[in-house]
Amino acid sequence: MSKSKELFSEAKKYIPGGVNSPARAFKAVDNDPLFIERAKGSFIYDADGKEYIDYVGSWGPMILGHNHPAVVEGLQQQLLKGSSFGAPTKLETTLAEMVVAGVSSVDKVRMVNSGTEATMSALRLARGYTGRTKIIKMEGCYHGHGDSLLVEAGSGITTLGIAGSAGVPAKLAEETIVVAYNDISALEEVFKEYSQEIAAVILEPVTGNMGVVTPNAGYLESLRNLTKEYGALLIFDEVMTGFRLAYGGAQELYNIEPDLTTFGKIIGGGLPVGAYGGKEKIMDYIAPEGPVYQAGTLSGNPLAMVAGINTLKLLKEEDTYDNLEEKGQLLEDGILKNIKKVDVHAVFSRLGSMFTLFFNSSEVTDYQSAKSSNTKAFSIYFNKMLEEGIYLPPSQFEANFISLSHGKDEIQTTIEANYKALLEVKK
Ligand code: PLP
Repeated sequence: MSKSKELFSEAKKYIPGGVNSPARAFKAVDNDPLFIERAKGSFIYDADGKEYIDYVGSWGPMILGHNHPAVVEGLQQQLLKGSSFGAPTKLETTLAEMVVAGVSSVDKVRMVNSGTEATMSALRLARGYTGRTKIIKMEGCYHGHGDSLLVEAGSGITTLGIAGSAGVPAKLAEETIVVAYNDISALEEVFKEYSQEIAAVILEPVTGNMGVVTPNAGYLESLRNLTKEYGALLIFDEVMTGFRLAYGGAQELYNIEPDLTTFGKIIGGGLPVGAYGGKEKIMDYIAPEGPVYQAGTLSGNPLAMVAGINTLKLLKEEDTYDNLEEKGQLLEDGILKNIKKVDVHAVFSRLGSMFTLFFNSSEVTDYQSAKSSNTKAFSIYFNKMLEEGIYLPPSQFEANFISLSHGKDEIQTTIEANYKALLEVKK
């Protein structure tokens, strides 16, 4: 028995399902999770000492690659000064200033501890600010596990084949209206019906949690116009896309200014962080300035701030996003060639350093088309890739991430493994 399997059966005795987040279980790919011991650059090492090229990147944060010296050194220095004070530090202002400078729609930002906290708090703020209660979310978008947002969510919810979650009060779920991603006429209908009741529309501007799906031309513009027309706030959940697709996130790429933005993952450089920000007049509704309460014992934690600051400093360098695009294109070219050569039903969806290989015969544009993918084929593909030393997210409905540490050699190795895995699918 492998060490990972041993560790997994031990973990299951004490932790529900043996994991602290369901997406980590390999249920959808008929396997058991690898237990990881260490990671460096684009490589991750399991408890049996096997090396893998990593495309999970801790589900998004590790854009520099694992254990980047700049992040590690910063953390070591900060540890000697203390790990948490429960009082303000200059580090919080530094990171906030960097986010404000990098994202043009954000005047002020509040740090929290996870993406879930960021979206939950942004919704409360939107409701407090507008005095309205209903929220519109898009089918297949995942915004963490807050009650209002666990309705038709993607990611682990889709992987496990459940519509939402037990324990979410029906009364609360009723306040969430779900509309298909990329469908403006459905959104218009909802706005007509509920006109003055909608507090906010929240979405992943480019989705990662049903796999990578990009907005149709004009979709985000129409969303911006509709929310303005009806006095609802537009919230971009950039927990995944922020500082990933561009330094200023998807909103920079598509040139759209949302009212509020949520962040996480990259801005914590691998430590637990989330944040939400937006226009000053809205953000000043938050306590202690305003009436919307939100707090946190470890919020703005100095270690997390240092990891975030040092990560953003490096990302700010000139060729970051060209570099990621170049690697993404290299991988895309190789995989598209393989798909053609092997002749399998698969489409490669990519934007910059985020990608998903859908086992589908047509383009994926929304949740329904994502769900029509062949998950059995994905499972075969995933397990063969793992055997070949490539560590992918264990679900069809997830984004893969390329980091600045992935070299052209690793991309080439991945393309070769992809060819073998596609052959296995074709069998
Ligand atoms: N929003 C998006 C777009 C996400 O991808 C995630 C997590 O994957 C979250 C929110 C929740 O973040 P966290 O897992 O840090 O709570």
